[in-house]
Amino acid sequence: MSTPSTSTTRDTVILGTGCSGLTAAIYTARANLKPLVIEGHEPGGQLSITTLVENFPGWPDGVQGPELVENIRKQAEKFGAEIEMGHLVAADLSASPIKLDFGNGKTVHTRTLIVASGASARWLGLPSEQALIGHGVSSCATCDGFFFSGKVICVIGGGDSAMEEAIFLTRFATKVYLIHRSGSFRASKIMLERAMAHPQIEFLTNTIIEEVLGVEEKEVRGIRIRNTVSGEVSELALSGFFLGIGHIPNAKFFEGQMDLDADGYIKSHDNVFTTHNGKVIPGVFCAGDVQDRRYRQAITAAGTGCMAALEAEKYLEEHGR
Ligand code: NDP
Repeated sequence: MSTPSTSTTRDTVILGTGCSGLTAAIYTARANLKPLVIEGHEPGGQLSITTLVENFPGWPDGVQGPELVENIRKQAEKFGAEIEMGHLVAADLSASPIKLDFGNGKTVHTRTLIVASGASARWLGLPSEQALIGHGVSSCATCDGFFFSGKVICVIGGGDSAMEEAIFLTRFATKVYLIHRSGSFRASKIMLERAMAHPQIEFLTNTIIEEVLGVEEKEVRGIRIRNTVSGEVSELALSGFFLGIGHIPNAKFFEGQMDLDADGYIKSHDNVFTTHNGKVIPGVFCAGDVQDRRYRQAITAAGTGCMAALEAEKYLEEHGR
């Protein structure tokens, strides 16, 4: 793999090597657009930090997230997608062709751009939490909940994501601690009430996590928590630690050139078109979690990646490629 080559004009550049970006790469490569796919800080996106994926169609016995994304990558490369490392430092989406600057004099011009830069789960940032990702620490209840059948787990957060995850996880876990750092919740009233009324969910408010226990055993075995009101420190035995403290979409870069919502997600139109001041940006499409706060699944990312690729192809045909 190399870094983006100097001053070339491409038909299609795809930002991101997660499920959406690589699916867009398969489709655009098969359409002979010779896509350049830019791999950033998180190669493979969120699939690369997931363990077993059991809900991706076509894998009756499940597939490891990293293996799945590696296969999609191979498939894209087989059809001629070029994957290069790069970190965008500037972009001009109004230029024709679109101008992308990767620093050190490396500029790429492209007739179409597919932004598939994903959203990164927000983590607490504790070393013990980071060490146990995939070993009992997860940011995706839908992906990993199944592994906690009959176990005691916790969900961190006080928003709708945390409530939704906690309620969902009661299908598997015998008990879910909902742990929130304050006593007031961002979650909608209905979601909060539903979670609070659930017999398997116990709320621990004004509580922060000091450490996830189990680093030596390479498996979550509990947490050390502190009550911020009483100052009391205690340990809870549990097997799963789920984060529900939000996601950070990787679209900040386009602020001022593209319509983003209050949380920084691309305000996509029909899931794939980007806009600026409400008007569609010609040749600039988006796909995957960077524009999806609702579903955030590998299969929906793949679906919108496909859609963006087909729209890019159509755009190039209509504009005399
Ligand atoms: P939110 O930003 O709404 O909530 C994040 C929660 O995480 C807050 O309670 C916040 O605490 C807490 N938090 C953030 N950082 C930390 C940290 N470092 N340590 C501890 N706690 C932390 O994010 P959500 O993902 O819950 O929701 C995002 C949007 O998506 C919302 O608009 C929501 O309504 C929507 N959504 C809707 C759903 C639905 O309708 N079914 C499902 C999921 C999301 P604090 O409040 O103290 O800042």
